[in-house]
Amino acid sequence: MLTAIVGINWGDEGKGRMVDLLSRKYSVVARYQGGNNAGHTIYVQGEKFVLNLLPSGILRPEVVNVLGPGMVIDIAHLRGEMERLAARGVKIGPENLRISGKAAICLPANVRQDCLEEDRLAGEKYGSTRRGIAPIYGDKYMKKALRMEDLLEPERLERHLSRLLEWKNLLLERGYGAPAEDFDETLRWLRENGEPLLPYICDTGLFLEESIAAGKDILFEAQLGALRDIDYGIYPFTSSSTTLAAYAPIGAGIPGKKLDQVVGVMKAYSTCVGEGPFTCELFGERAEALREAGGEYGAATGRPRRVGPFDVPASRYGVRMQGADALALTKLDVLSYLTEIPVCTWYEVDGKPTKDFPGGGKLDRARPVLEFLPGWECDIRSCRRWQELPAAARAYVEYLEKAVGCPIRYVSVGADRDAYIER
Ligand code: GDP
Repeated sequence: MLTAIVGINWGDEGKGRMVDLLSRKYSVVARYQGGNNAGHTIYVQGEKFVLNLLPSGILRPEVVNVLGPGMVIDIAHLRGEMERLAARGVKIGPENLRISGKAAICLPANVRQDCLEEDRLAGEKYGSTRRGIAPIYGDKYMKKALRMEDLLEPERLERHLSRLLEWKNLLLERGYGAPAEDFDETLRWLRENGEPLLPYICDTGLFLEESIAAGKDILFEAQLGALRDIDYGIYPFTSSSTTLAAYAPIGAGIPGKKLDQVVGVMKAYSTCVGEGPFTCELFGERAEALREAGGEYGAATGRPRRVGPFDVPASRYGVRMQGADALALTKLDVLSYLTEIPVCTWYEVDGKPTKDFPGGGKLDRARPVLEFLPGWECDIRSCRRWQELPAAARAYVEYLEKAVGCPIRYVSVGADRDAYIER
C-alpha cells in the first residue's frame, strides 16, 4: 500500500500528527519535498516534538524514514535536529533513516540570499521563513546546486563548490552589495556537517523498490498544503516545491509507482502563515480568540498565524488538487468555545458568487460569504467515538464533508496521539 498524507489548505493542518498516527501501520515514512521550512509538531504521551526535516515516522523506532530526492536539505540543521532528538532518546541511525543522494544541499549562501531578498522586498515581502528554500530550489532548477551524493566525493565537491560560489557571489556582491560567500568557510561547513551524515546517504529509490517488493507499506509525508503548491497554489505566495500527492513517488525516488491512497488533512477552521491572499481572514477580537484557542503560532518560526473560518471554495479546490480519497479533519476541539461557527461557503468576485477557487487578480478581489452553524459549547477532547460527539459537532463535520465532496474518515479532538475519532 502506497499512501500519501497531504495538506488540503495553506499548511499547518496537523499533517505531522496524522502521519504519526497512521505510521504505526506502515514500515516506511518518506518526505518528498521541501526543507526545514516545515514544522511538524507531535505530542507523544504529553512530550512535545517539533520536526523540520525528519519525517514524522522517526518517533516510531520500527519505522524506516526517507528524505527523498525532491527535498532540499540544510545539513547543519539536519544534524542539529538528529542530535537533539537522539539526546531525548529517539533512535536515529542508518537503519531507520535514509537520505537520498539526489537531494539538494541548502547552503548558508542560500539562507543569506533569502534574507537579503526578503529585506529588499520590505513591504512587498513574500513571507519567507528565511531558511533559504526558494534560493536553493532556484539553484536546483538553474542546475547549480550541490547534492547530498557530492559529499561522498570530496574532490568533486570542492570543484563543484568553487564553480557554484563563483556564480553565487556575482549576485551577492554585485547584486545585493553584500559580502561574498567564503569558499573555505563553506567547505568547512560542508565537511563538518556532512561527515556525520555520510552513512545515511543512499539511493532511496532502490530502497523503496525493495521495500515494495518485500510487501511493505509506504507512507509519503507532505509539507505544507495544496494552496502552497508552486504550480497550483496562491503563486507567488507559495512554497517553492510541489506539495501535491501526485509528486510523492517522484520526490521520494520511485517515479514509476502510483499511489493507492491519498489522505488529505484539513483543519476545522483556516490558518495561513505569511503573506498572500487569504479570503476568509478574520481580524480583531474574533481572530485573537481563535488564534489563542488553537495556539496558532508557527512551529518553525513562532510567527502568529492568520486565522479564519473554514473556507469551502479553497478546501474543495485543495481536495481536487490532491486527488484525496479520504480526509482527516483536525482540531475540532478548538471550536468548542463558539456559540455559532462561521463557515466561508462562497466567495463573491466582482459582484458574482463563486463556489470555485479563483486565481490571480480575481482571488485578490474575492470577498468571503459566511454562513453560521450552531456550536456545541462543551469540551469534546475526551470523545473517542463518533456517537460520543455532540450532535452539533457531528452536524458540522457532515456539513464540511458534503461541502468539499470527500469523506472525512478521521476527526481529531486534541493534540495527543490518541485524541482522535475514526469513523
Ligand atoms: P503540520 O505542519 O501540518 O504537521 O501542522 P503543525 O504541526 O504546524 O500544526 C498543527 C498543530 O496543531 C500542532 O501544534 C499540533 O500539536 C496541534 N494539533 C494537531 N491536532 C490537533 C487537535 O486535534 N487538537 C488540538 N487542540 N491541537 C491539535
